[in-house]
Order: sequence, then structure tokens, then C-alpha cells
Amino acid sequence: MSGAGLKTCPICGKPREDKFRPFCSKRCADVDLARWLGGTYSLPATEPPDDFGAEAEFYVPEPDNDR
Ligand SMILES: [Zn+2]
Repeated sequence: MSGAGLKTCPICGKPREDKFRPFCSKRCADVDLARWLGGTYSLPATEPPDDFGAEAEFYVPEPDNDR
């Protein structure tokens, strides 16, 4: 990560404030956080769960002809 020279808020583009860096204000920090949470939430799952294969094994009951 080498963002030297670029010292602006990634949300609104205003000069960032040291107190809220890399943002210019707490509001922009909140906006970014909301984007993160929202983005992660709506992100489509690209990989199936690890234990997905275990569910693929079906239990087939044997026919009960012994009665
Ligand atoms: Zn900002």
C-alpha cells in the first residue's frame, strides 16, 4: 500500500483529518463502515461450505421384506 501524496477522504474527496484518518470526519468513517457491512452482507457466496459434501450422501433405507 503506497498511497503517498493522496491525502484526501476516500468518501467525499475532502482533505482528510488526522483524527479521523483516512477520512475527513466521523461521518465519512461511518459511511465507509456502512458500505463495508452492506457490501459484505450482499456479497454472493463463491465457495460452498466445507461440510457441503457430507450432506450429499443420502441415507437410503433398505426395503423391509422380512415380515
Ligand atoms: Zn469525507
